[in-house]
Amino acid sequence: MIFSCLTLGCKTNQTETDSLAETLMSHGHEYSPYGGAVNAVIINTCSVTSVSDKKSRAAISRARRDNPGAVIAVHGCMAQAMTEKPPNVDVLGGTGDRSGFIEALERVTATRGARLIIKNGVPGSSRSTVGAVIGRTLQYINSQRFADAQSAPLQKQKTRAFLKVQDGCSNSCSYCIIPSLRGESRSVPLADVVQNAKRFADSGAKEIVLTGIEISAYDGGIAHLAATLAEEFQSIRFRLGSLDSSCVTSEFARILSARKNICPHFHLAVQSGCGKTLAAMNRQTEKAAQAVKLLRSAFDCTLGCDIIVGFPGESEADFLESLDFIENHKFTFTHIFPYSDRPGTAAASMPNKLTNAEKRARARRASELSDRLFAESAAKQIFLDVLFETEKDGESIGHAENYFEVCVKAENLRNEIRRVKILGIRGKTLIGEL
Ligand code: SF4
Repeated sequence: MIFSCLTLGCKTNQTETDSLAETLMSHGHEYSPYGGAVNAVIINTCSVTSVSDKKSRAAISRARRDNPGAVIAVHGCMAQAMTEKPPNVDVLGGTGDRSGFIEALERVTATRGARLIIKNGVPGSSRSTVGAVIGRTLQYINSQRFADAQSAPLQKQKTRAFLKVQDGCSNSCSYCIIPSLRGESRSVPLADVVQNAKRFADSGAKEIVLTGIEISAYDGGIAHLAATLAEEFQSIRFRLGSLDSSCVTSEFARILSARKNICPHFHLAVQSGCGKTLAAMNRQTEKAAQAVKLLRSAFDCTLGCDIIVGFPGESEADFLESLDFIENHKFTFTHIFPYSDRPGTAAASMPNKLTNAEKRARARRASELSDRLFAESAAKQIFLDVLFETEKDGESIGHAENYFEVCVKAENLRNEIRRVKILGIRGKTLIGEL
């Protein structure tokens, strides 16, 4: 089989696509970048917002249109939520049972014409099981051990590798559908994490990003895990994916600030700067301010955050409180998400919904603030150590330890860490010279 992959959503999805592709290649199949002639297209979907659903459906239609004769195999969060198999899909999986999904894909590709659904690990032919397969057992998914070690080949090309260390979530934020799609939080055993980090180190990666659905829930503490890896692989820099503020304690700050190869950039899932809105989101309040204080005292770091605007019941005053929070804590990388209903969540049935126009207006105001804070932080950058990742039109582009994207007029720097003198800014990219 010659296959290509399309991935939507988070870095965790990306690591799962790479892992799946590696397994297929270890079975003798051939990977082809999207656009080449293939027998199968594998689409890893996202369902975090209604926009993600729309994009996932669009990706499926595009893949079918671009590859009329190929097997279209769909998995991931949106697939997990599906109760009906779309007619333009040949193999439908979910967020678990990767080996069952691969087995079905290989069988359908081999016997082109049959259609299969894999939901609870029991493959069956489309003619007999389409109706029967709807519905699946989370216990089955939860019992799945993280069998698939992290992939290396596709990630081999990468200078920055994403290392999945955790899956699922045991929180219950009122707007979020993910726990029902990915199950309870579970951690990749330390031995597997270290083994996978070694695979990336051996394959030349200079930076490893620890990722998952809710890495703050890592058994034993994400700080301990990161410190163990930083100690084990001292020539590699480690970056933490999105964090829940509750895991940022004085011990977190003490352990990680003692390691020079922990990137001084932290992204917090803040969601709102208003206590009333956080309570309605069923999220802990007051944690983020404490986390910012601890991180700023232990690191010369940049901070990022996710903010949802237009949550049901969010008044103008509540919104302004969120803006004040972003402003007061000088976040450099603020990601703004207009609230969107997710059927099946508590928030979806909440009163006092804002109109799309009101949500768009708040998102615009928050983005203007985010852009200004980014520019103010960027203007303070003088010298940065940049890991170069790509090259285009005679320019090399990469990320600094503090996550700024930096561009220099030079070539053949891929996978090198070089000190750069910052000269200016172009959009969201800093311009510098070696
Ligand atoms: S922490 Fe909240 S927002 Fe994040 S995945 Fe879990 S339930 Fe969803």
